[in-house]
Amino acid sequence: MQFFGDYHTHSRFSDGRQSVGDIINAARARGLKEIAITDHGPLVAVIGVRDVSDYLKIKAELATHPESEGIRLLIGAEANIRDMHGTLDIPREIIEKLDLLIAGLHPYTLPTSLEDGMGVFVQNSLRHLGRYQRDKAIEHNTLAVLAAIDQNPDLDIISHPGLFFALDIYEVGRACARNDVLFEINCGHNFPDLSAIMEADRAGASFIINSDAHFEDSVGSLAYGEYVIETLGIDKDRVANYPGRGGYDTWGKRAKH
Ligand SMILES: [Zn+2]
Ligand SMILES: [Zn+2]
Repeated sequence: MQFFGDYHTHSRFSDGRQSVGDIINAARARGLKEIAITDHGPLVAVIGVRDVSDYLKIKAELATHPESEGIRLLIGAEANIRDMHGTLDIPREIIEKLDLLIAGLHPYTLPTSLEDGMGVFVQNSLRHLGRYQRDKAIEHNTLAVLAAIDQNPDLDIISHPGLFFALDIYEVGRACARNDVLFEINCGHNFPDLSAIMEADRAGASFIINSDAHFEDSVGSLAYGEYVIETLGIDKDRVANYPGRGGYDTWGKRAKH
């Protein structure tokens, strides 16, 4: 199946094992019409960009590849959600220069305060302590994601909802639907599973299928998403990059506004 594009990849500017040029070449070899490079925000241990100015370096590098090469190149970021107020680790002035914005919860993110560190990031390491702590963790994680959706009008995509940090998927799906944010089916992690995607579908969310590629071999590898959509019979009109859909111009917040 030929998807329109892949909108979540990592280069060596964060924790990818591929250069910007490698990603472009792999995407072209896959027959994609669009590819986005979306490195991790800086305030996370080990996997983030060294500095937010790296996004501008990637953007400048993309500009050196002529459009005539037959593939559209997009600069994005996968920001880290830092607290229950939905604070991201990329400042507004950088976000404004990007084509698309992804946000997600990741382990070892620097929280904005001790309270948020305890509420979201420590609580999750306590899950084995029992049901009460687990329910609290889900409540806090969900609040963080809902706030990120509400507080960031430029947000296009929530990455791998529920991976690393358990969420109330129905609530997240509803918030995505209300705010025109796409719920990601992440083929790098084969996540979320079928039952969670059914739940998000019931909540009215629209989806995007991405690779989250860190290696050239994975760029445009979207078979898991194809399997999920076919198995669950999800309405193709609710899958942003499904074959036959129009690509970034039809769903990107900056493209539309
Ligand atoms: Zn991620
Ligand atoms: Zn990622």
